[in-house]
Amino acid sequence: MSKKLVVANWKMNGDIKLVKEYSQLFNENIFSHDVVVCPPFVYLWSAIGINGYHVGAQDCHFAKNGAYTGAISPKMLKNLGVKYVILGHSERRENFAETDILVGRKAISAQEEGLIPIICIGESLAERENGEVFEVLKNQLTFSIPKGDYPVIIAYEPVWAIGSGKIPTPSDIIQVLTFIKEIVPHAKVLYGGSVKASNAKMLLELDCLDGILIGGASLEVKELKNILTEF
Ligand code: PEP
Repeated sequence: MSKKLVVANWKMNGDIKLVKEYSQLFNENIFSHDVVVCPPFVYLWSAIGINGYHVGAQDCHFAKNGAYTGAISPKMLKNLGVKYVILGHSERRENFAETDILVGRKAISAQEEGLIPIICIGESLAERENGEVFEVLKNQLTFSIPKGDYPVIIAYEPVWAIGSGKIPTPSDIIQVLTFIKEIVPHAKVLYGGSVKASNAKMLLELDCLDGILIGGASLEVKELKNILTEF
C-alpha cells in the first residue's frame, strides 16, 4: 500500500499532557505514513520539534498582520515552523460564519507563505437527502480552493459523518473523490468523519484516497497508534 497522509485535528481539546503523550508515541514508534498533528494554537510551539510528525494549525487569518485582535496570520505560523493549516472546517463554517470566499482568501494567503492548506469541504445531511451533494461540493471547490498549481489538500468531510460514528459507503467515497480529482487534479484528497481504528484500514485501502483526517479518535493516543499501525 502506498504511503498515506494522516492528519490529527485536536479541535479545541488537548493539553500539554497530550503533547507529551504524542511525543512519547512518536519517539517510541516509527510509522510508515506521514502524520500531521494539529493542536490548538497555544500548543503549537510545544508540538514543534518533536520528530516523527509535521505540525499544522487549525485556522489562520488571511492578512499578514494588522488590527485583527485575536487572529493569527499565515506568516506567524510559518515563522513558528508550522507546515500545514486546516481551513474551512465545517465547525468554523457553522460557528464562525466562514464562507467559501473567506476560506479561499485564507488559503491563498497560506499558500503565499509556503504553508499547505488542508481545505475541508462536505455536505450536510439535508443536502445529502435532497440529492445536492455534487452541487454543494462543486460550489465549495470553485470558491474555496485557490486556482493554480500550488500544493493543496482537500479533506472530504461530510458534516453528518463528523463525530456521529457514521461514515459513507466506500463506493460513495470513491465517487466523491473521483469528482474532486476531476475538478482539482493536483490536489491530495483525504476523507474525514468518524475515522477510527475499526474503519481506518478499509478507508486507507482505497487507492484513490491520499489519507485521512481524524478528529475525536486523535485524542486517544492508543487509538491513534492503532490507526497508524492498522494498515
Ligand atoms: C473532524 O472534525 O474533522 C473530524 C474528522 O472529526 P471526527 O473524526 O471526530 O468525526
